[in-house]
Amino acid sequence: MVETVRQSKSGEKLGVSTLRESILIIEDEPDIRELMEYNLVREGYRVLQADDGEEGMALCKEKAPDLVILDLMLPGVDGIEICRRFKSDPVTQSIPVIMVTAKSEEADVVLGLSMGADDYVTKPFGPKALVARVRAVLRRGPLKEDRKGGDRVVRAGVVIDRSRHEVTIDDEPITFTPTELRLLHFLASHPGRVFTRDHLLSRAIGEHAVVIDRNIDVHIRSIRQKLGLKYRALVETVRGVGYKFKDLAKR
Ligand code: CA
Repeated sequence: MVETVRQSKSGEKLGVSTLRESILIIEDEPDIRELMEYNLVREGYRVLQADDGEEGMALCKEKAPDLVILDLMLPGVDGIEICRRFKSDPVTQSIPVIMVTAKSEEADVVLGLSMGADDYVTKPFGPKALVARVRAVLRRGPLKEDRKGGDRVVRAGVVIDRSRHEVTIDDEPITFTPTELRLLHFLASHPGRVFTRDHLLSRAIGEHAVVIDRNIDVHIRSIRQKLGLKYRALVETVRGVGYKFKDLAKR
């Protein structure tokens, strides 16, 4: 176990608010771990490291990091199983997990997301892309369960009001079916976050789903049509994985 804390002592004395978030890297390849560590520490994050899943799990429970970067290809217990354990343990389940996968393993991405992973990066990745992903996931915060109550989400010129069952696009009301509205509201509530079709079915449509509602692609197509040329690109297809709402805050 290697712990890297390059944080000034004075910073710690000033209290928690001045400390940057801590990131736990679970990765068996030392070179990759080192590269990640170097770039995260440079950004001011505190870094913890584990080279297998069991150790990572223990470290996570002990240190409660703000985020976990989890390589899926690990010796012993693999990353998917570790992700499942993280997300089913009340102590660790709210800690966001970014999976690291090989580019060719789209099936792993889908599986990992269905186990509750929050995002993923594919190898090989650039340091900047990793840091950006970490920043975005930390900013996003925990996944909000779909609530019964109506909240209002505003994204660019699109306003989605669940309680009033209204969508306006550049101030013009557009008619959405209840399923489309739920789906759009859910996606827009989590910009930048990738959801699999299964995810969207269970989380966004949920118990409301009737057989005819189960084809997510059909709803997405219709939603895009209604968003029109100006806004249809807000709902992005993630090839082989699912859908996400464009993260407008991303630089
Ligand atoms: Ca590995």
